[in-house]
This record gives sequence, structure tokens and C-alpha cells, in this order.
Amino acid sequence: MKGSIATVTAGVRKLHVKSYGCQMNVYDSHRMTDLLAREGYAEACPEDADLIILNTCHIREKAAEKVYSELGRIRKLKDAAAREGRNLTVAVAGCVAQAEGEEIVRRAPLVDLVVGPQSYHRLPELLAEAADGTKVVATDFPAEDKFDHLAPASNAAIRGRGVTAFVTVQEGCDKFCTFCVVPYTRGAEVSRPVGKIVAEVERLADAGVREVTLIGQNVNAYHGDGPDGRPWTLGRLLERAAEVPGIARLRYTTSHPGDMDESLIAAHRDLPALMPFLHLPVQSGSDRLLDAMNRRHTRAEYLRTIEQVRAARPDMAFSTDFIVGFPGETEDEFRATLSLVEEVGFASAFSFKYSPRPGTPAAEMAEQLPEEVKSERLQRLQRLIDGHQAAFNAGSLGRTFEVLFEKPGRHPGQIVGRSPYLQPVQVMASSTLVGEIRSVTITEIAPNSLFGTLTAEPSRVSDRVLLEAGG
Ligand code: SF4
Repeated sequence: MKGSIATVTAGVRKLHVKSYGCQMNVYDSHRMTDLLAREGYAEACPEDADLIILNTCHIREKAAEKVYSELGRIRKLKDAAAREGRNLTVAVAGCVAQAEGEEIVRRAPLVDLVVGPQSYHRLPELLAEAADGTKVVATDFPAEDKFDHLAPASNAAIRGRGVTAFVTVQEGCDKFCTFCVVPYTRGAEVSRPVGKIVAEVERLADAGVREVTLIGQNVNAYHGDGPDGRPWTLGRLLERAAEVPGIARLRYTTSHPGDMDESLIAAHRDLPALMPFLHLPVQSGSDRLLDAMNRRHTRAEYLRTIEQVRAARPDMAFSTDFIVGFPGETEDEFRATLSLVEEVGFASAFSFKYSPRPGTPAAEMAEQLPEEVKSERLQRLQRLIDGHQAAFNAGSLGRTFEVLFEKPGRHPGQIVGRSPYLQPVQVMASSTLVGEIRSVTITEIAPNSLFGTLTAEPSRVSDRVLLEAGG
């Protein structure tokens, strides 16, 4: 389980936020950090912290157990702080907090506060409640909009996080796929109003952000109120976000194939800022399994959606998610997944062995597959995906992409950026180019990144034209 650390810059008390899982959690960690910066909390390593927040994720296998073992390590820090006469407050936030609730303080009494994803705007008041040793558990779904209560990030905090940023536009999910905990941990679908999202994008752009990814558990089900008082689609929201001065690139994730509506497909056709790379989870290539997963679409419908998006923007590339070894999956059904990979030619894909999540319908299904069958199928699928990914990257050799430079590279004189397809691109060039978009010709392919040189002219030749010309 990978972690990332959110930071703040000034204050008296010391805060350490460790974030697990998806971009939504990274975004939430930033917003908690911004909120607590206003309360005087400053960044610190775990050893110096007065408050540690674990912002947890429930997607991976044994997520709760991993949180309990992390809490075991934090126990030692809490004891060490007590020996120094300090109090270390420990909070568990995110989806494991929502799913486990009271159980966390029962199993790990060092935890002072458990706060679900819909309640983190109440952190200052909840911390005050916990200050006298009361165990606080806040896992309800309050009617108020948490975003109305959150502090905007300071310009310094935004700059410290780089030239790309996430903006949550939608939370929760109404789809109830039979393997997934999200509808239970994040609740029903809620969309933020257009005006508030645009104001946040404008603030990010003013602080130097060039690329914004609009995020949501089911982002393309977005239906927030527009300035005209009517619900806007994600396509319309992207169109509006593309008008914000300074924003050069837009992305969105994660989408459901059934919610790729006309306006979103039109946005891919009409908005040069909308990058030609779409993560569209499919999970399986078998219609029977898609039905058992309650995915609400067939293989043919998925393929038709891919075709429509490609017709709108011919240089599109796709990534996806697969679950291997769903209860009852036969060898033939698994092969249908392999054939879907061949048919679409994904540029990349995430694949996982099915593992039951307590409380979900699939966990109760008969015909749970043996571990060795799942592992063997996963290996076959991953070999196929790796081949497609390598072919996609190899196809970049000699091409010229526009690259948004994000940070200095590992080697002196090197900077790293991203292609429109999110491939890391390493270039020998001045770090003053960070935040700029330049044309780069790809000269070498390595397994996990591309190497290139700046083209002589800092031209704005569009990737689209070049890629269309190159197929
Ligand atoms: S659409 Fe995604 S978030 Fe919603 S239930 Fe299905 S897998 Fe979970």
C-alpha cells in the first residue's frame, strides 16, 4: 500500500497526514491539511507530530488489517511522545474509518478520532471534542455540503503541490457493483455546483497550476447545478473549465462506461485541452460476469463507447481496470477478458485478483475461486497487458508530443514531464521550464518512461495533428 504525505507551511502544532489509495484521498488529505493550517498546524514528520491522520483506503485486499498494523507502529510514537510529556492525537479518516467505525477505537484504543470522508470538514470541532480523552467517532453522512466548510488552499500550498492538481467534482456512487464497497463507504452520488468548481479551478490557475484532473468516484455521472440553475453534465463542466485562463490541460477520472453521454464525447471532439487519454474501467470481457458484477453494460456496449470516443478524437488511448477470478468465472469467461484486451488495445490497465469485501453481495456468492486459479489467470492477463503497454510506448519513438514539465528529474540537468498519455518523459533541459508545455521528440523508450529532446522551436504543434498524421 503506497502512501503520500500532505504538507502545510506555518503554525505551532505539528501535523502529519498519511494518505493511502486513490486521487480522491490525496485531494481529501490536501483539503484536511489546508483546513488545519488555518488552525495553526504545520507539516511535520511522524516522530514530531502532535496529530497524525491516516487517510485510509478500503479498495485493496485486507485494507483494514493494514491500517491496524500501521496503528501498531504509531502506538510506539504515541508512547515516545508521552515520555517526552507530549500528547500525540491519532485520527483515522477515509473509507476504512467509514467502514469500521467504532470497531477501530475498540481494537486500537490509541485512536482518538475516527472520521468518515463526509465529515472531515468538522475536524477542528471533532479534535476539540477529543482533546479531553473522549473517543470521537464521526461516520454519519451529514446533509450539509462539506465543501462549503473547507478552507481554500493558500497560494504557497498550491505551488508546493506542483503544476498539476485534482479537483473533486462529485462524490459517492449509486451503481452498486456487487464487488465494491464505495456506495457504502462514500454514500450516494453528490455533485458540487459548477460555480464552486470553476472558482476552485481559477484559484489553482492563479497559483500556477496548468493541468487539472476533475475527480469523482463516478465522475461522469456528474450532474451539479449550473449557473442557470439547471444540472450540468460533465461535458459541459469541462467546456467551462477549459475557458479558465492558464489551464492548458484537463482530465477526468474515474468514469463508468454507462455514463459516457453525448456531451462528454463531444467534449473529446471539441476541447483541445481535454487530453486524449481516458481511464474507462470495464472489469471483465464476459457478459455473464458483467451482469453478475451488476456493471449495467455489455461487452458490445463498452466497445461501442470506445468506438464513439475514438471517432470523436482519433488519437485517443485508453486504460482500464480488470478483476480476475470473480466468483464463478470460467476459463472461457476469463478468455473473453483476454480477447477484449486484444480488441481494444489498451495503452495500460490495472488488474487485480478478486477478493471479497465484507458486506458486498459478491462476498456472499457461491463458487469463490481458489487462490491459485486467480493467480494463474492474473499472470496471463498481466503478460498480455504488459505487451500492449510496451507496444503503445514503443509507438511513441520518434514522435513529437507536447509535454507539461512538472519537476526536476533524478539526474542533474534533467526535468520530467508528462505526455498527453500520462507517460513520464525525461528531458535534459533547464528547470525553469517547470510549468511550461513544450514540444518534445521521443528518442528513447525505457520500461517506465520515455526520453526525449526539446524540439528546436518551442512550437505549439498539437499532439493531435502529429498523432493523426502518424496513425
Ligand atoms: S461504479 Fe465504480 S465506484 Fe461505483 S460501485 Fe461500481 S466499481 Fe464501485
